Formats: sequence, C-alpha cells, structure tokens
Amino acid sequence: MMDTVVQSQNTLKTPAYAAQTAKAALAPWSIERREPGPHDVLIDILYCGVCHSDIHQARDEWGGSIFPMVPGHEIIGRVVKVGEHVKKWKPGHIVGVGCFVDSCRRCEACRAGEEQYCELGMTLTYNGYERDGKTPTYGGYSTQITVDENYVLNIPKGVPLERAAPLLCAGITTYSPLRHYGLKEGDRLGVVGLGGLGHMAVKFGHAMGAHVTVLSHSPGKRDDALKLGADDFLVTKDEATFKENAGRFDFILDTVSATHDYNAYLGLLRRDGIMVLVGVPEPTPLSAGALIMKRKRLAGSLIGGIRETQEMLDFCAANGIAADVEVIPIQGVNEAYERMLKNDVRYRFVIDLASLKAAS
Ligand code: NAP
Ligand code: ZN
Repeated sequence: MMDTVVQSQNTLKTPAYAAQTAKAALAPWSIERREPGPHDVLIDILYCGVCHSDIHQARDEWGGSIFPMVPGHEIIGRVVKVGEHVKKWKPGHIVGVGCFVDSCRRCEACRAGEEQYCELGMTLTYNGYERDGKTPTYGGYSTQITVDENYVLNIPKGVPLERAAPLLCAGITTYSPLRHYGLKEGDRLGVVGLGGLGHMAVKFGHAMGAHVTVLSHSPGKRDDALKLGADDFLVTKDEATFKENAGRFDFILDTVSATHDYNAYLGLLRRDGIMVLVGVPEPTPLSAGALIMKRKRLAGSLIGGIRETQEMLDFCAANGIAADVEVIPIQGVNEAYERMLKNDVRYRFVIDLASLKAAS
C-alpha cells in the first residue's frame, strides 16, 4: 500500500505514442516517468528520430518484444531538472539519449567504455527493463524522459537539433565500425543500402578520406548519393554489377534491413578486405568459400559506447555533419513506418515532439 502511494507521488505523467501489440498501429498512450533521483536528469524531449529498428521491434520481428511499447532511441531534448548529485548537466543544456540508458558499469565491456556490449546486458532505452529487471523502459516517442547522468550525451553547438537526433543511433552505428575496423584515408569503401544508417556512413566515409561507393537497389538514389559525398554509385539489382566490380573494395559496410545474399557482396571485397554488418535482416546462408578464397573478414558491430558516441557528436560538429531529415508530427508516425518500408525516406524521419505536447 505504502509503495503505491510513494510511487504515485514520485512519477511524472507523460504523454506518449505506443504500440499495444505487434499488430497494432502506434496510438496515443500515457506513461509514468520517475522523478529524477540524485544522479538523474529530467529531459524535455524536442525531437526523436525514427529508426528501422523501431519498426522491427514494434512489429516483434526479432522476437521477445515487450508491449505496450513506446519506441524511439534517437532523442534530443533540453534538461529541465537535475538530481542533487548531478555535476555535469544543468537545466537548459541540450542533450542526447541513444539506444541505451544504463548498463552494469562493472563488467569488462562497461569498464572499457563499450557499454553496448555489457556482459549483463545494457538497459535498452525502450523494449527493455531497468536494472531492477522488472520496470519497463519507454523511448522517445514521448514528451519527457528521466535518465542517469552518465548515459546522457552533450549536443555540441552548431548542429541543428532535428538533424542531430539521428546521430544518436544511425550516426554512432556507422561511425563506430569505420573507426574500430580501421577505415583509412584512400580506402575504397562500399556502403550497402542508402537509408538512415547508409546516408550517415557515406558522410563519415567521405569525411574520413575514403573513396566512397554506394551500392543500392534503388537506381533513383544516384544523385542523392553523390550529393551526400559518394564518389560512385552502383545498382545492385543488376547482376553484372557483382561481376564487374569483383575484388574492388577494401571495406564494405552493410546497412540493409531486408534479407539479401551476403556471399554476393563478399565477392566485391579485395584480398584481406572486410565486410561489416550493421543491418539486421532475417538470417541468410553464408558460404565458407566466400571468405576463404581471399582471406576476407566478415564482422558485425552494435551501436557504440557513450565515450565514442560523444566523440562522434564532436566529430560531426567539427566537420559540419548532420543527418538529412524529414520532420514529421507524431500523428504521422504510422505513415512514416509505411514509407520507410517502401524506401520512401530522405533519409531519416524525425518526430517533432511539439506535436504531442500540443495534442495533450
Ligand atoms: P532504412 O532507413 O529503412 O534503410 C535501409 C536500407 O536498406 C534502405 O534504404 C534500402 O537502401 C535498403 N533495403 C531495404 N530493403 C531492401 C531490399 N529488399 N533489398 C535490398 N536493399 C534493401 O533503415 P535504417 O534505419 O538505416 O536501418 C537499417 C538496418 O540497420 C535495420 O535492420 C536496423 O534494425 C539496423 N540497425 C542496426 C544497428 C546496429 O547497432 N547494428 C543500429 C541501428 C539500426 P537502398 O534503397 O539504397 O537499396
Ligand atoms: Zn536505431
């Protein structure tokens, strides 16, 4: 009884959009955020990007989704309140929150600043549970969020806020593998899929001095690819592309969300080349020969840790990099999902949360 009273005094009623089941469209809902504890910050959410992972999870395409679900892990907002021990943040600061809001903080991965690989599992911003293992987390399709100070990012001045939101997932997910696997100036980089992740990979690859080629199944994206900083554009619908470009690339970053034949893309790598998967389609078969013949490497990468995410944000500010976005009201989010599935997005939808505040 006592618990219930304390809980209701210490929570903040928060308008949100949620999927109630894997088959339901997103619709208005109400959640409770915690009042900031001593190490928490309360953030008024301004913008939230729409990631393809939001669709995968809201439709339970990976299994194990937790409903009701409030998606959204590309969050930009303004700090409105801080706990008594918070030193780093003050009301008024513009901050970001990405794909996770906590981790164990003690395992080897956490101590290395790679919280996304936390051995006990990171606390996802949504579709997860807090460290207590039972309180569900809810994402950025909502008007405010309470987050531990150590899982909040500084948004450098000069990056337009709606264009900064996608950096929190699409940005770090492409920046991290290019750095970790050592993309070098002059390397021939192939970016597979020109969507939210792909268009950020093109910008980063270009800024890091690589020769960037987009490999796309959408011929109509050629002009955009070149404007985004690509040096070349190949259409993957055409079988001949794979023959003509065999052995061409040092590094391939595969961002595709739908099932496709990895073996064909491995054929585009040169000796000792590496292909890194960041897109998460259904499983597909892999032939050992595709790797063995020229000592190729196939690897994966998951978002990035807090330290590296901050490094990426600062890199964006220093290099004039931000996402290309289409800002939508939250009432348009279901249509945005449909358009993403039809590849009709240039190149990230970003929700303006003023639309939810106005409707509440
Ligand atoms: P997105 O904006 O929808 O872009 C995906 C791109 O994949 C499309 O633009 C399209 O590019 C290509 N594509 C789609 N359907 C295809 C098909 N049938 N055949 C070939 N290519 C196809 O998605 P996103 O937000 O960038 O996310 C991409 C993937 O990364 C998703 O699976 C997402 O869950 C995953 N993800 C992973 C991480 C991680 O940490 N590893 C983080 C975030 C997201 P073209 O039109 O140019 O072919
Ligand atoms: Zn994402």
